[in-house]
Amino acid sequence: MSVRVGHGFDAHRLVAGRPFILGGVRIPFERGPLGHSDGDALAHALADAILGACNLGDLGRHFPDSDPQWKGADSLRLLEACARMAREAGYELVNVDATVVVEAPKLAPHLDAIRARLAETLRIDSSSVSVKAKTSEGMGYTGDGSGIAAYAVAALERSR
Ligand code: MG
Repeated sequence: MSVRVGHGFDAHRLVAGRPFILGGVRIPFERGPLGHSDGDALAHALADAILGACNLGDLGRHFPDSDPQWKGADSLRLLEACARMAREAGYELVNVDATVVVEAPKLAPHLDAIRARLAETLRIDSSSVSVKAKTSEGMGYTGDGSGIAAYAVAALERSR
């Protein structure tokens, strides 16, 4: 059995007038991630982890933010496309694990809904999708509320 691991990171500025979308779930909050797409940092970190495991580059290479086609894009569709690229390259997703760092809103009540959305998008069981929420205890851009960060790892197995 050949298992490969990939890592991803993403961060977005949180600004007024944008919906707060994380893992494809809209969470009520007064600010949301600024971005060319919907700014879903968790979806972007996961996409980079999956691409990384297959050595397929990164999200920006496949979906450049200079391309108007991806303006306001639903990042779950981008994540879905990355998972498809991995399958086409001969890899099967085993599991993903992610950590989101943000001071507010509180993510705990939404984590199961996020895991379900991601599992559906990635076509794996939700028991193989882990999402954890942390604060940075007031330190730095995630601590002062100006931004959100997400870190992810993905394990993939050669399927052929
Ligand atoms: Mg991003």
